[in-house]
Amino acid sequence: MRLLLVEDDLALSQSLKTDLEKGGFAVDTAENGEDAEFMGAEEPYDAIILDLGLPLKSGLDVLKAWRDADIKTPVIILTARGAWHEKVDGFKAGADDYLAKPFHVEELLVRINALIRRSHDQTGGDTLSVEGVTLDEEKQTITIVNVETLSLT
Ligand code: CA
Repeated sequence: MRLLLVEDDLALSQSLKTDLEKGGFAVDTAENGEDAEFMGAEEPYDAIILDLGLPLKSGLDVLKAWRDADIKTPVIILTARGAWHEKVDGFKAGADDYLAKPFHVEELLVRINALIRRSHDQTGGDTLSVEGVTLDEEKQTITIVNVETLSLT
């Protein structure tokens, strides 16, 4: 599972990255809104953790840009404590969940796992199809349309 972690507080970003990697995720990081927008649009992340207060481009604007470009990656936003309007604006911009700072990393992990599970349910599981060949990561099979299904180790 690949995550994009967007956070300009480098100490927080580093410690979150370490904890998320311990939780079994491969984690890329971005420190500003412009890099985040580019990476989120180019790479097939399973979920994105997005701080809202970012240099160069705000998290809300980044999120709107992704949704306008039809990028449906699940996004959990990190909001300032007590800033209820950030949550409302975030959901309006297309966020799937939020966490208010400061938070426990355990809560972030369960929320990310729940988000990814929900999004895979909607898309019919972890499959990748190219020219009639479908890889199903969950069932560990390869199916060649109208020919056969092979089990993988
Ligand atoms: Ca910030």
